[in-house]
Amino acid sequence: MARRIAEPYKIKSVETLSMLSYDERKESLNRAGYNTFLIDSADVYIDLLTDSGTTAMSDEQWGALMTGDEAYAGSKSWKRLESAVREVYGYQYVLPTHQGRGAENILSQLKIKQGDYVPGNMYFTTTRAHQEMNGATFVDIIIDEAHDPAVDHPFKGNVDIGKLQSLIDKVGADKIPYVCVAVTVNLAGGQPVSMENLKEVYELCKAHKIDVMFDATRCVENAYFIKEREDGYEDRTVASILKEMMSYSDGCTMSGKKDCLVNIGGFLAMNDEELYIRSRELVVVYEGMPSYGGMAGRDMEAMAIGIREAVDDHYIAHRIGQVRYLGQQLIDANIPIVQPIGGHAVFLDARAFLPHLQQEDFPAQALAAALYLDSGVRSMERGIISAGRNNETGEHNKPNLELVRLTIPRRVYTNNHMDVVADSIIELYEKRETICGLKMVYEPPTLRFFNARFAPLSENGELISEENRKMTIN
Ligand SMILES: *Cc1c(COP(=O)(O)O)cnc(C)c1O
Repeated sequence: MARRIAEPYKIKSVETLSMLSYDERKESLNRAGYNTFLIDSADVYIDLLTDSGTTAMSDEQWGALMTGDEAYAGSKSWKRLESAVREVYGYQYVLPTHQGRGAENILSQLKIKQGDYVPGNMYFTTTRAHQEMNGATFVDIIIDEAHDPAVDHPFKGNVDIGKLQSLIDKVGADKIPYVCVAVTVNLAGGQPVSMENLKEVYELCKAHKIDVMFDATRCVENAYFIKEREDGYEDRTVASILKEMMSYSDGCTMSGKKDCLVNIGGFLAMNDEELYIRSRELVVVYEGMPSYGGMAGRDMEAMAIGIREAVDDHYIAHRIGQVRYLGQQLIDANIPIVQPIGGHAVFLDARAFLPHLQQEDFPAQALAAALYLDSGVRSMERGIISAGRNNETGEHNKPNLELVRLTIPRRVYTNNHMDVVADSIIELYEKRETICGLKMVYEPPTLRFFNARFAPLSENGELISEENRKMTIN
């Protein structure tokens, strides 16, 4: 018998969940323009919108808030954060930022010139926005398998070395300020990159004097997948795998809100002293002094502890295990999800779930709205809306992947909550043809997924045909 693993922590403080009736949820969804980003959290039962900043901190982290050193310069808490990054990630120089995008802003401004190309293993919204605002063209160099939700591959986040090589041949290494490698790849479904691939990318880049900068947001989760799936790593600690991973890069941008187990914060890290000195100037302009970068001393204190807690082998095994626990229930019920199951989320394949809808009817957006209506579970669209429009033609970018992301916050929900989510999705799948598409009635100019508003395409304005709806949670 496969033994089950329980949460490697116990509950010390609880937060009551809100449980609205179907009609209340319907009203709330209407007010939110069918965009799950616009639903009040007070109206959400189980919030799987994001794993960003939604972590439950440990008692040690909460305790450390009281010992945070709020000195403007030379704070002890900053020193502790800097040491944690140096020891756990192995980079020489560290600059704190208010969150990951603060680090992306500084890196993009310093390294990118107008007309440059920044290759990456699929894009991330804010990362690409910063690259483009600084005049670069993003080029996707992820392996083709990543764009097919049905293909099984242990390291679906891998860089296609051939694609990287041909870009270098085509535009020249001097037009490529750095390669951005995300570990894991959020938009591919939390898919990892293998150590072998990281090594190959690094060697190719070094041969052409191109820097490799990681988007290290979920690097601990990536390290765990390497331990599980790559030969020679099964007996290593996640901490040692992580450090080896980071050695195949010149630096990273980091969102503390994910794998650093805190609610806010981030950093930019690197080994190049000259880049560090230039970055420090910009940190002062955009973030704050290089010894706090937009964070309070107590935030840095909590992050220093979170960085160490995240590489605990029991913690990370349970973390990945819980995501898999949800995903496996869906697979067992024949629900189309991205496979293999990624590190931080389960992704529903909305086109396969709602095959009667065209991509222009926003199937992922409609499915996310329907899930909220059915059970109060909040998820998010990762498809045509998130992909935005082509800068030149003004047409929708049409990604192959049209997904609904069920993102699991770290240490927040139990496996019983995962059961509730699975039940709701399975029931929705049974009545999937009663779910209609959406039209966009308001479109903001940038990062439109945050604020866009929609309305159901059905004649009576219902998202799920009423005659088929079943009262689930009341
Ligand atoms: C969240 C995230 C970022 C940006 O970090 P913030 O802390 O939200 O600014 C960058 N890349 C990836 C892959 C992310 O998931």
